[in-house]
Amino acid sequence: MPIVIKNGRVIDPASSSDRVADVLIVDGRIAGVAPNLSSPKAEVFDATGMIVAPGFIDMHVHLREPGFEHAENIESGSRAAAAGGFTSVCCMPNTKPVNDSATVTSYIVQQARAKAAVNVFPIGAITKGSAGEELSAIGAMKSAGAVAISDDGLPVMNARVMRRAMEFARSYDLPIIQHCEDLNLSAGGDMHEGAQSVRWGLRGIPAASEDVMVARDLVLAQLTGARYHVAHISTRNAVAMVEYARRQGLPVTCETTPHHFTLTDQEMAPYDSNYKMKPPLRASCHRDAIVSALASGTIAAIATDHAPHPGSEKMQEFERCPFGIIGLETALALALEELVAPGRITLTRMVEAFTTGPESVMRLGRGTLAPGAPGDVTVFSTEVDWTYDVNQSFSRSRNSPFHQRRFKGGPMATVVDGEFRWKR
Ligand SMILES: [Zn+2]
Repeated sequence: MPIVIKNGRVIDPASSSDRVADVLIVDGRIAGVAPNLSSPKAEVFDATGMIVAPGFIDMHVHLREPGFEHAENIESGSRAAAAGGFTSVCCMPNTKPVNDSATVTSYIVQQARAKAAVNVFPIGAITKGSAGEELSAIGAMKSAGAVAISDDGLPVMNARVMRRAMEFARSYDLPIIQHCEDLNLSAGGDMHEGAQSVRWGLRGIPAASEDVMVARDLVLAQLTGARYHVAHISTRNAVAMVEYARRQGLPVTCETTPHHFTLTDQEMAPYDSNYKMKPPLRASCHRDAIVSALASGTIAAIATDHAPHPGSEKMQEFERCPFGIIGLETALALALEELVAPGRITLTRMVEAFTTGPESVMRLGRGTLAPGAPGDVTVFSTEVDWTYDVNQSFSRSRNSPFHQRRFKGGPMATVVDGEFRWKR
């Protein structure tokens, strides 16, 4: 059935358009954006007072399938994505088995086709088992549907291996996404190294553990010409180095997470593992640099790093808990409240960070409302009052520091391939 989304403020950065109009979707594709559109038998959604944007892309999630379905699976994670306003997600390969072969990539693609509420694009591992030693079957994974390579969760520590991986990524024209952490510098750390870690007696992860890896990789990116992307960037120096590399014309990009532009180590609840993630929440000078880089466009994308862990794992002592939090259902509301409402970035810039930004890195053929584009649309409000209750989450996990936070603004409806997959 066709869909008409009526009277919304349509923001489509890909065509530099921002105006009140209707969006018509027919046969799963965008048929037109104009005032007074209609179609016989169309399902009508009244978006008066709301924003209508291209479907949001989250280029960094962990769906935990195969292997950790007690934490999340493709169905539950994709439903959380839809409820967060995302129409496409890219899932990291640190499953069990690791997605380091065409077999696992194909399995994810098939499961997604059968069960997912949104588009799911697998990211293949850089190295076998993400062990950092032997390159995985990159070409075969690409043929099976992988859209990028990454060993996320772990860095590729060996510079020689990373150089070879970049050469392969370049020859297959895939982005290579690095989890930037020098494991020797961060070893044993549980939170950002600074005054707060000293106060709480926890071992620190220095900003330098991220910075030295970004520095090394930018040298290798220059050497190889690979499309290199820094996952979840979190430090002032890392941002400055990426900015420098981009000014030199290197095809280098980065993303940040909602928690890194929202929280600092000062706002952590003591020893609460819902504030434990990698990279850790940094000091405010780093957070401020992240916000500025989002405003300037040095940071291309907001990505959640949605990392579900079941309560049994997150309720241990702080030092024993795994890193990571869920984030799909709160990302848009946090961006509206923390970035747009205070005037730190414009609404259009925020929409870019969820659409054209990740699209420019991942090249999924999405992120636009141009006629003929896939019928993926995100409808959201800057006014709606709601409270996030993690116990109502579509995710199978509950590890969020934003439980019971009251929000102004958030997703209202999510359309994927011309079908409503979620409505508030
Ligand atoms: Zn990571």
